[in-house]
Amino acid sequence: MTNILVTGGAGYIGSHACKALANAGYTPVTYDNLVTGWQDAVKFGPFEQGDLLDRARLDEVFARYQPAAVMHFAALSQVGEAMTQPGRYWSNNVTGSLNLIEAAVAAGCLNFVFSSTCATYGDHDNVVLDENTPQLPLNAYGASKRAIEDILRDFEAAHGLRHVIFRYFNVAGADPDGEVGEFHRPETHLVPLMLDAIDGKRDALTVFGTDYDTPDGTCIRDYVHVCDLVDAHVLGLKWLEDDKGSRVFNLGTGSGFSVMEVIEHSKAVTNREVPYNIGPRRAGDCTKLVSGSTRAKAELGWSPKRSTLETMIADAWRWHQNGHYER
Ligand code: UDP
Repeated sequence: MTNILVTGGAGYIGSHACKALANAGYTPVTYDNLVTGWQDAVKFGPFEQGDLLDRARLDEVFARYQPAAVMHFAALSQVGEAMTQPGRYWSNNVTGSLNLIEAAVAAGCLNFVFSSTCATYGDHDNVVLDENTPQLPLNAYGASKRAIEDILRDFEAAHGLRHVIFRYFNVAGADPDGEVGEFHRPETHLVPLMLDAIDGKRDALTVFGTDYDTPDGTCIRDYVHVCDLVDAHVLGLKWLEDDKGSRVFNLGTGSGFSVMEVIEHSKAVTNREVPYNIGPRRAGDCTKLVSGSTRAKAELGWSPKRSTLETMIADAWRWHQNGHYER
């Protein structure tokens, strides 16, 4: 079996990726420091606890498993925190990724799949966001991811590191089999916070700003189901195995929904009221992030199957209700 090193495999997206890799016949080896991940989410392959900043530990893991590729999910990813603690983002995300990339090259592991973000684009009024849109991030989270993309390009030129970069739009939903799902501490993301509020597990949702230049004044995002997202990663891995070269792909559906529209859909799916109040804007938020690219579909053959808002909320709600909330 082919080993794939999955950093952040104990986290939300990484754990779903491990399941998809195992289903595709690979052995996902999770490397995670468990700062934001959960060991009980590592179900589909071996677990190695370690930090991206620990080069000796990384070298040990590369030597032990001889992975054919790296899938790099481990990162700090909260926009709000990135505004107040940018140093953590530059250190953990950029220095940590540089360590990982150097360890991969030293071990001769030259296939790299990287989880980047649409937050690297920043605000572009009425511009279709495709992979050629200038990257002008508004926060240290997006800036850190853009920097890692640059590192990958430099390492390809110097060391032949082939890479697929995925720029995610907003990821939601959960494994429909209920084996893994979304769970952050602290939680900052819209869908889980909203489900908590519906369930009375926390106070009302605060809508961050109603004065954006959008039809209802709230921010617009392009939501993609986590299972569809990780399917694209398996296709990205095959792309590298087939020696098709380094490439950037947006992963979004092309449909945007405002915060208020997500609330309305959640009411309909759960048949419950969504308690919410209106608050000020959250620093660092872009007005609208919607993918205008069809590259992943055209070139990778990616075909999202669960990325309607209804299905994403229904899958997340089922996960939420099955008691996985309590850890
Ligand atoms: N949002 C909100 N209230 C919350 C959390 C998020 O209104 O408690 C909004 C946020 O301003 C953004 C959208 O929901 O417009 C999605 O935010 P999230 O943090 O889920 O993802 P991000 O877009 O930051 O990656």
